[in-house]
Order: sequence, then structure tokens, then C-alpha cells
Amino acid sequence: MRKKELEIQLEQNVAGFRIPKIELEQYQTPALVASNLLYWAYMNGDIENKSILDLCSGTGILAIGAALLGGEVTAIEIDKDCQETAEENQLKTKTPYNLLIGDVLDYKFDGVFDTALANPPFGIQQKKYKDLDFVLKAVEVANVCYVILDGSPDNQAQIPSILKERGLALIDSYIDTFVLSSTYPWHKMKRKLHQVLMLKVTRI
Ligand code: SAH
Repeated sequence: MRKKELEIQLEQNVAGFRIPKIELEQYQTPALVASNLLYWAYMNGDIENKSILDLCSGTGILAIGAALLGGEVTAIEIDKDCQETAEENQLKTKTPYNLLIGDVLDYKFDGVFDTALANPPFGIQQKKYKDLDFVLKAVEVANVCYVILDGSPDNQAQIPSILKERGLALIDSYIDTFVLSSTYPWHKMKRKLHQVLMLKVTRI
């Protein structure tokens, strides 16, 4: 599947959160950003015929994209209310994947996945660098991890050294932009741009 086709499939067939929960930082990854991340991993040989774990999968955009590119996908999401939409999205895209409901930080997985994908909560509502807990879990359960983190100037400057301190190797990265449509009632603007860091990380 070509990259543009992947983006169109995700855009047209993957519905987002019905009633997003701010305390869980529920923001769906935009189709363009998801397809950029997925194709990056795919071109690196980390998706097709690989076992994939999508941590914090929401309504499934990364899981479905990985399945469309030939991955064998398991996904985990803490919020059971996402399950119905996630299942409808799987039906629409004909990409069944194994969806687990639970807290990924406590979850005991059997064995190790080839590749982890994650757009975790950034920790804006919780604690600073909360997203790194998810990165640490991802590298524990997979050989290579592609993750989306907050791309604030602060994070762009600090993340490489923080990853190193925590025993992680930053293999590659780029910056992308979320075009966020108004998600919560207090969002005043219809659309907002938010920079994100796209990272490829492994254990050292
Ligand atoms: N990956 C999806 C959703 C991103 S929003 C996408 O790219 O569109 C972040 C998601 O993480 C939310 O669905 C939220 O419910 C989930 N989440 C938050 N804490 C979690 C935890 N401890 N374990 C599993 N999922 C979690």
C-alpha cells in the first residue's frame, strides 16, 4: 500500500473518540501524522510481517495503519469506552487486531514484540515527562519503539539527554505537526497547531 493510500484509508475509515476524556489526554493522532510515522517504521523494515504492540491505542489509528501495512498487531488501551469505536474501525478497514483493555504500565506481556508504536498521554494533565514511563515500558516489551512525544521547545532540547540518562538509545527523530481540531469545550480556536517529536528508540 502506498503512503497516500494509507493516509486516505485512515482519514476516511478511522473514527476518533466519541466523548474524549481530558484526564486520559485523549487526542487522536491525525491521519497524516500517523501515516508519516507508520511509513517511516515500514520503510525501516519494522512493520511488515512483524509482531507489533500499539500502547495506548485509543480508537486504533496506529494499530489499524500497522495492520494495513502487513503487521500482526496487538493493542492495549486503558479506557473500555474506546472499545466499541475501535471495533467498528476494525470492521470498516478489515483489519482485525487483538485489543486488550488495561493499564499498559502494569500489564505483563508474554514475550517480546518486534516493534512498539505509541502516541501516549504527554503528561500535560498529569506529571511532566509522564510520557517517558510509556517509552520505558515500550522498550521493555519491544525491540524497537516508534513514539510520539510533545514537541515543545523545552522537550526538543531536553529529551535526547533524558532518554540517555534513562538507558535508552535515540536512533532517529523528526518533528511533525498535529493540526488539532477543537476537541474540548474550552478550546477557543477551531484548529490549533501543535509540534510533536517523532522518535525511534531502543534499549542501549
Ligand atoms: N494512540 C491513539 C490515542 C492517543 S491518546 C491515537 O494515536 O489516536 C492517548 C491514549 O492513551 C488515550 O486513548 C488514553 O485513554 C490512553 N491511555 C492513557 N493512559 C493509559 C494507560 N496507562 N494504559 C493504556 N492506555 C492509556
